[in-house]
Amino acid sequence: MRYISTRGKIEPVEFSNAVMMGLATDGGLLLPENLPRVNASVLDEWQDMEYQELALDVMKLFAPDVPGQILKGLITRSYSSFDTPEITPIASPGEYLILELFHGPTLAFKDVALQFLGNFFSWLLETRHDHMNILGATSGDTGSAAIYGVKGKENINIFILHPKGRVSEVQALQMTTVPDRNVFNIAVEGTFDDCQAIVKAIFNDLSFKERYRLGAINSINWARVLAQVVYYVYAALKLRKEGAEQVHFSVPTGNFGDIFAGYVAKRLIKPVIGRLILATNENNILTRFVMEGIYERGKVVSTISPSMDIQIASNFERYLYYLYGQEPGRVVKAMKEFERTGRISFSEKEKLAAHKDFLSASIDQEETVDTIRALYEDSGYVIDPHTAVGVAAYKRLKDQLDGNPVICLATAHPCKFPEAVARAIGKEPKRPEKMKGIEDRQQRLVVLPASVSRVKDYVMQNAL
Ligand SMILES: *Cc1c(COP(=O)(O)O)cnc(C)c1O
Repeated sequence: MRYISTRGKIEPVEFSNAVMMGLATDGGLLLPENLPRVNASVLDEWQDMEYQELALDVMKLFAPDVPGQILKGLITRSYSSFDTPEITPIASPGEYLILELFHGPTLAFKDVALQFLGNFFSWLLETRHDHMNILGATSGDTGSAAIYGVKGKENINIFILHPKGRVSEVQALQMTTVPDRNVFNIAVEGTFDDCQAIVKAIFNDLSFKERYRLGAINSINWARVLAQVVYYVYAALKLRKEGAEQVHFSVPTGNFGDIFAGYVAKRLIKPVIGRLILATNENNILTRFVMEGIYERGKVVSTISPSMDIQIASNFERYLYYLYGQEPGRVVKAMKEFERTGRISFSEKEKLAAHKDFLSASIDQEETVDTIRALYEDSGYVIDPHTAVGVAAYKRLKDQLDGNPVICLATAHPCKFPEAVARAIGKEPKRPEKMKGIEDRQQRLVVLPASVSRVKDYVMQNAL
């Protein structure tokens, strides 16, 4: 299997090169030439497998250029950092099914992908006798998950910018208390937008980028999508084994990465997965796409589910490619139009096609808090505000689904968002063992002004 660009202007590449490339060199996103689909006897086999075994089988289909034994080792290592043998267990408080994706080292679902990506990068660099310096900006979860993905790796240094004093205390501590020498935290005296602008400016300096082997770790990397496909398959087949005809999912959505993995899984194990509920907070560009057939940029609103506060969903172009019948020319045209006007509108036929895949609801902050409270009062189970957006969307839309089970994705552990949870249930959630006493650990970071040249100097001094 080889990978092509949504914009159609690259020669097909193998999985390893697709992962190294990140963004396609023509500005598009990488996708498999054809999405695989497995038959019923494979489903019978898969539904008896443990998580890691299943991950190996699924990933092999998409990464035939990686030797099986190597892939197996990378998967074993990646998920040995999780604190439960099931990796992504399903809890069933009250009437709900909650897929807990927060058992990794930073307690957010991003660990599922970034643990794998870090190990994969490190292996590939080793075989190529190469090294890399990862540079990124974060407003929260991605930074810590990326740091935990590569900490201690000899051929990778990582530089993460965060806006000083503007990420939650827990999130900042998760990044700054990592003792490994290859981790460099930069607290920028400015906003998240400043951080992103600095990173972008540095990446745009192509000779600097080449000289320091700069790499990105953002949500458009195909390996991240692929690692996430696994838990949809795992969870859906678990219910199939128990007799469910079909399984739906509710997915708290920001950049469309997680739910796009759900779409790939839906095609892979057809017809086991039914609809995907695309749950958004007040930043509802994607809900308006599903419900009204209009994809239109708005203003970003800050909410209590900050990892979903986006107005341009960076992975959406991947879905567009399929919606447009795999015609790159149409993708290019639509993306140009979006850049020019901030808007793409869809035909009735396209709208109907999207409705076959998705339902959607936008949940405001009051309803999010009420949802956390109601579930806690019913069952004693505590969810984080991102997960609550998905649960609330499910409650609102369940009458539009058949009676088959709906799995709600829990994308973060509630202890990462103590203020929002306390607002709902009157107390802060309990912390798992690995987070206890994090305030008392030694912190490592530098504070720099919001200046491209100062950040560049710092990277130069500390790069591999
Ligand atoms: C990143 C994130 C999301 C959104 O996922 P996307 O792949 O960007 O749609 C939801 N919840 C949490 C906790 C996250 O960290």
